[in-house]
Amino acid sequence: MVEVDDFGPEKILEVYNPKVGLHGYLVIDNTALGPGKGGIRMTPSVSMDEVAKLARTMTWKCALADLPFGGAKSGIIADPKVITKQKKMELVKAFAEALKPLCPSQYIAAPDINTAEEEMKVFVQANGSLKSATGKPSAMCVKPGEKCGIPHEYGSTGFGVFHAAKVAVEFQGESLKGKTVAIEGLGNVGTFAAQYFSEAGANIVAISDSKGVIYNAQGLLYKKVLQAKQKMGSVINYQPGKILSTSDIVGLNVDILVTAAIPDLVTSSNVQSLKAKYVIEGSNIPMSAAMEHILYKKGILVVPDFVANAGGVISSYAEYRGRNPEEMFKLVEKKIVKNTTLVLEKAKKNGTKLRDAAMQIAVERVLKHCKTCRTPKQ
Ligand code: NAD
Repeated sequence: MVEVDDFGPEKILEVYNPKVGLHGYLVIDNTALGPGKGGIRMTPSVSMDEVAKLARTMTWKCALADLPFGGAKSGIIADPKVITKQKKMELVKAFAEALKPLCPSQYIAAPDINTAEEEMKVFVQANGSLKSATGKPSAMCVKPGEKCGIPHEYGSTGFGVFHAAKVAVEFQGESLKGKTVAIEGLGNVGTFAAQYFSEAGANIVAISDSKGVIYNAQGLLYKKVLQAKQKMGSVINYQPGKILSTSDIVGLNVDILVTAAIPDLVTSSNVQSLKAKYVIEGSNIPMSAAMEHILYKKGILVVPDFVANAGGVISSYAEYRGRNPEEMFKLVEKKIVKNTTLVLEKAKKNGTKLRDAAMQIAVERVLKHCKTCRTPKQ
């Protein structure tokens, strides 16, 4: 059952097209700040409830990023492992055609699990408006001096994660230079985060993937770790380093832990082992608010996901406005620095953890533009 409060959802749409076997959902949560922004998830188990929860998360993420976007999300029930690529594209096309009356005026699509730039190209072509989706291929709609597609592969999220970390560390009167860093996951977010931390002089001592952790207290060369993963299937094939099991990333003796892979990485069974002074949530929901509270009580600074990983949605906004990649990176830095600072200051002033301060800022921004909204169920 989708939970409803006076913030939303404003619209819940269930889409069928028996001709192509399409069954999908669109939830537009709140459009007080602008059209609802959110990715298209394609999994065999995606449900209306899951889409609604993710749509609400997007409402807060866009508000906190201070973008003129509301929150939304969509889903197509399909298993890309068992359907052909052609079938996948047929489903995306049919979905785009069905959503046309609401898109892009009230919903703007983006990549999510199992959808990427090629799917966004199909979506936009079927919709007819370049503004109907972001995360399009860079080669799409090149105008003189301007690019319309900014794919996620440019690394805006990892870049934003790095800036959120830099602001947090400097807010505490410290510097990133020489800080030891553990990075959980070496995909899109983890790889770019590793690049920027390394360029800033931080010492990356551990990197994990689904097969394990590679750890070296003296430091790792992240480019070589990436090569080991690409050529030999996992970060654990890098040497020199100690191989640990995947879950060991949480308890390592490091200054900064960057999460960039799975949900619920930190749970009640390992939260007490966490030794980092800073946790930067690059991944979505790496721990519950209750776990964040335990860490807050221990004096560990946790920069929450919707603050730290907003680089992706800020990049989407830059693309939506027809900005080029250079302008996009400038905007991501500016907004992440400004909003992370605001959150840190408010949390310090109120004596709360960062998530509470961030939520308060996001809710206040939506409330300013939403006449019917009062108190959200969180
Ligand atoms: P990705 O698929 O590119 O990479 C995920 C990485 O995690 C892979 O290297 C994989 O090997 C690794 N992994 C899988 N299981 C693991 C485990 N148990 N322990 C350690 N590593 C493991 O994904 P991504 O795009 O980098 O996204 C990572 C997280 O960041 C997700 O939670 C995603 O929702 C979130 N996020 C991504 C973006 C974005 O723009 N890509 C934006 C916001 C949030």
